[in-house]
Amino acid sequence: MPQNLFNGLLAGQKALVTGANSGIGTAIAKSLAKAGASVVVNFVTEEDKAEEVVNAINTNGGEAIALYADVSNEEQVHIMFRKMFETYGTIDILINNAGIQQDAPFQDMTLAQWNRVLSVNLTGQFLCAREAVREFLRRGQNTQTSSALGKIICISSVHDTIPWAGHVNYAVSKAGISMLIKTMAQELGPQHIRVNSISPGAIKTPINTAAWNTPETEDALLQLIPYGRIGHAEEIGKMAVWLASDESDYVTGATFYVDGGMMLYPGFRTGG
Ligand code: NAD
Repeated sequence: MPQNLFNGLLAGQKALVTGANSGIGTAIAKSLAKAGASVVVNFVTEEDKAEEVVNAINTNGGEAIALYADVSNEEQVHIMFRKMFETYGTIDILINNAGIQQDAPFQDMTLAQWNRVLSVNLTGQFLCAREAVREFLRRGQNTQTSSALGKIICISSVHDTIPWAGHVNYAVSKAGISMLIKTMAQELGPQHIRVNSISPGAIKTPINTAAWNTPETEDALLQLIPYGRIGHAEEIGKMAVWLASDESDYVTGATFYVDGGMMLYPGFRTGG
């Protein structure tokens, strides 16, 4: 493995990353593997891309397998976790990353669009977190690998706070994650389970291609980012490794905005 800041930080730990065959999920899976974790690369479509991620990790001396599940489907989530336990024995780190957008003006949004985005982005995080917590509690503490009983990191968005016209289902799903992590952290802190979220700003991935793939849209997007550039998925990966490690052992119930300052109301630099 190439030398990096996080070498060995997650040695011996078992991680599951949902939606890990694309974008931010792929970068997180690779970062966790570099830090020494064995990684489940979850996918729901494009199994070949999941296998590419697995091969890249295994070729670099890491350890990974690909497992199918639609995170919004209770039965499939249950089966995915059972298969993970058959291979890796347990779970130490869950990264709830899978997410979708189905955009529409408010008055045109269908119930199906509303329900699908809430099901994947919010209910999917609940279902995976519940399986992980059940296993943390069943297994008990292994202080040789981690000070916490288990770690859950939910990938949210700056739109857990910033309203987003035309995307009400997405913004509501992300706002829901804020209360999911805080309530879980409060409830499960006494059992030493840590629950945090990362809220990315604009990161170059397939989900938001339309926001940066022409000079005009990229320029409009950059107006919203004080730091003056779009983010890279690897920058979310680094935050995820830190949050999964003992380096952040006193951190729970917190949201980290990795957004180049998007949350700083950049319109007020010249207006207001
Ligand atoms: P992406 O479209 O590249 O990746 C999304 C992943 O989720 C894909 O692997 C997809 O197959 C998977 N997925 C979708 N539905 C699923 C389901 N039902 N079950 C399992 N997997 C499913 O987009 P991304 O940018 O990598 O997004 C990852 C996460 O980051 C999402 O939660 C997204 O909301 C969040 N996010 C992204 C940005 C950004 O700028 N890219 C900003 C803020 C938040």
